[in-house]
This record gives sequence, structure tokens and C-alpha cells, in this order.
Amino acid sequence: MNHEALAAHIRAVPDFPRPGILFRDITPLLASPPAFTAATAALAERILVHRPSALVAIESRGFLFGAALAQRLGLPLLLVRKPGKLPSATTAIEYQLEYGSDRLEIHVDAVQSGSRCAIIDDVLATGGTAAATAELVRSRGGEVACLAFLLELDALGGRNRLGAATVESLLHF
Ligand code: AMP
Repeated sequence: MNHEALAAHIRAVPDFPRPGILFRDITPLLASPPAFTAATAALAERILVHRPSALVAIESRGFLFGAALAQRLGLPLLLVRKPGKLPSATTAIEYQLEYGSDRLEIHVDAVQSGSRCAIIDDVLATGGTAAATAELVRSRGGEVACLAFLLELDALGGRNRLGAATVESLLHF
């Protein structure tokens, strides 16, 4: 399935969750087995080049792709979650969203020192979430092998917040 066909499975929803936000809804892609499989396969190929030793998936839609990719690539799946969700000892970081601000947590023992982490999420918007996750990974002694997204909202310039880290986005809007 080519990129145009994949992009046709992303629905644009105006004014969600707030007026002025054009929300990119991935649920049609998830509901299409050929599209979800093609997207996962293409992302896996793009990630593999960076020789990751673990995947770090961001709550919540990043978990969907993170889980599929971890199985496909045979890599450990580490979770970055919203506050109060992870049961064991955590470390946290504050970050800005396109709409609001929040905090992210990771288990203190999740990242092996020196491991090459590929950070996974569905959408790269302003880059605040991804930048915070990269900082969390580095604060635990991990390297950021790459950051991979199903889609990137180019006009928001999110990749500029990610410094020299490699960004792999399958689709651009
Ligand atoms: P950001 O920190 O601005 O890059 O926001 C990224 C996170 O917010 C991702 O986890 C996305 O799931 C979600 N997000 C932000 N903006 C949008 C949007 N316009 N459409 C869909 N998801 C979005």
C-alpha cells in the first residue's frame, strides 16, 4: 500500500478536542487490517536502520504502534505513561502539549543504561511530548536511536524541538 493510500485512512476532524485544532484521527487506519499492517511494516523498516535495542512507546496511541512494532522487530517494549498509571517507582518530566500541559512518567528501571531507544508515537505535532520523552530516556542513561511517528504535522515544526535526533515520519500533513 503506498503512502497516498495510507494517508487516505487518516480522518481530519476539525475543532477536536478544542476549537481550532484539526485532529488527525487514526482510527480508520486501525480499523483496516491492510492499512495497519502496511503502516507497521513500513515503520519497522524505517526504525530498523537505526539499530534500536528497545522501543519506548508514548501513551496512549503510541502504545498501539509500539506493541505492533515490538512484536515485529523482536524488541523490548518500554512504556511512557501519564501520571499515576505506572505501578512501580517512576521518574517524571513536565511537558507542553499542542493543547495544554502535562507530565510523563517512566519506570526508573525501564531503560537499560547505554540502550538504543527508538521512541514511538502516532503523531508528531508541536514535538513537546516527544522532546520530553527523549529527555526522560536520556536521564535514565539511554540513547535516542530515533523517534518514529505514523504522521507528522509539518506546519507545527515539531522536529525542530528534537535537536539532532533522527526523526522518521511515515506520513506528512
Ligand atoms: P505534541 O506534543 O504537540 O507533538 O503532541 C503530540 C501528542 O498529542 C501525540 O501523542 C498525539 O497523539 C497528540 N496530538 C497532538 N496534536 C494532534 C492532532 N492535531 N491530531 C492528532 N493527535 C494530536
